[in-house]
Amino acid sequence: MGSSTLTIDLNAIVANWRSLDAMTECETAAVVKANSYGLGTPSVARVLAKAGVRTFFVAVAEEGAVLRAALGTGPTINVFSGHMVGDTTIIRDAELTPMINSVDQMLRQVEAMPAAPFGLQLDSGMNRLGMEPSEWSALRDIALAQNPTLIMSHLACADEPNHQMNAHQLRVFREMTDGLDVPRSLAATGGVLLGHEYHFDMTRPGIGLYGGLPFEAAQPVATIDLPVIQLREVGVGESVGYGNAWIAKRPSIVATVSAGYADGLIRAMGAGATVTFKGQILPVIGRVSMDLITVDVTDVNSDVDTLQLLGPHQTIDMLARHAGTIGYEILTSLGNRYTRAYIE
Ligand SMILES: *Cc1c(COP(=O)(O)O)cnc(C)c1O
Repeated sequence: MGSSTLTIDLNAIVANWRSLDAMTECETAAVVKANSYGLGTPSVARVLAKAGVRTFFVAVAEEGAVLRAALGTGPTINVFSGHMVGDTTIIRDAELTPMINSVDQMLRQVEAMPAAPFGLQLDSGMNRLGMEPSEWSALRDIALAQNPTLIMSHLACADEPNHQMNAHQLRVFREMTDGLDVPRSLAATGGVLLGHEYHFDMTRPGIGLYGGLPFEAAQPVATIDLPVIQLREVGVGESVGYGNAWIAKRPSIVATVSAGYADGLIRAMGAGATVTFKGQILPVIGRVSMDLITVDVTDVNSDVDTLQLLGPHQTIDMLARHAGTIGYEILTSLGNRYTRAYIE
C-alpha cells in the first residue's frame, strides 16, 4: 500500500472531553468545525454524542448539515457564522441553531424563521465575529424578547493565561450580559484552563479534544505511519532531493517515504522534524516534496518498512514548531490521502 496511515484514537478524544468536562461545573460542548479539525466529523461526533455531548459547534451551516446527518435528531448544533444569505433552507432542514452576529443576521433570522431557535454572538474585544457593545445595546431588548438559547463570545488570548486581554474580555462580556436570563459561553479550550470565572454555563473546547495545546494534559489522538517506498545508498558528497538541500557527509542509507506537503506535512518543517523506527529517532532530511519526504536511516540495523511521523515521540505541536505554525494548522491540513484507521 502506497498511502500513509492516519490513525485516530476516538477513545482518547472521549477521554480528553471527559477531562475538560471534569474541570468545570457547567455543560461541556464540543467544537467539530473543519471536519472535526481534520480528523473526520462523522466518526468523531458520533463517539462524542455517545459519551454525553449534547451541544456541538460548527463554523458554517454546510458543516452543520453533515453533522446532523451523522448524529440524527437530538443534539443541538450551533453555527458560529450565524445566518448567512442562502442559509435558511439548510438551517431549517438540518435543525441548526445559528449564532447571530449582527442586526442584519437578526432580521434575516426572525423574518425567515420566526420562533426558530438562535443564539447571539457578542464581540468582547477580538473584533472578529459578533455584535459590538453599541450594536448590542441597540438590539438587546428585541433580541432578548425572542428567547435566544445562548449568548457567547470568544477570547483572543486564552492560550496565554497571564495576558491582560483575558480579564479585559471577561469584564466586557460581563458588562454586556450580567443579569440576563440566558445561558452564557465564553471559554474554548484555553478558557477552560483559565479557571472558574471564565466557564459560565457552557464551555466550547475544540483543540483540547484532539490532543493539542494549550491543553497540556491531553492524550494524543492522531498517529501517522509512513510506508517506505524505496531505500537507497548515498555516497559522501551526493545530494538528496530538490535544491540539493541535503548532502551526505558519510556513506548513508536514505528512505523515501510516502507523504508530503500535499498531506499537510508543511514544507517549512523540512529540517527539524524527525520520525521513529521502533522507537529509534531519525532525522527528516532535504526538502519536503508534494508526495514524499526523505529520512536518514543509516543508523538503523534492520529492514525499515514503516516510519512514524506523528506519535508519542513527536506531537502535533512539536511538528508545528518545526514548521513555524500551531497544532491546529497541522491537524486541519492533513488532507484526504491518508488511509484512515479509527480506534474505538
Ligand atoms: C474554534 C473555536 C472554538 C474552539 O477553540 P479551541 O481553541 O480549538 O478550543 C470555540 N469558539 C469559537 C468561536 C471558535 O471559533
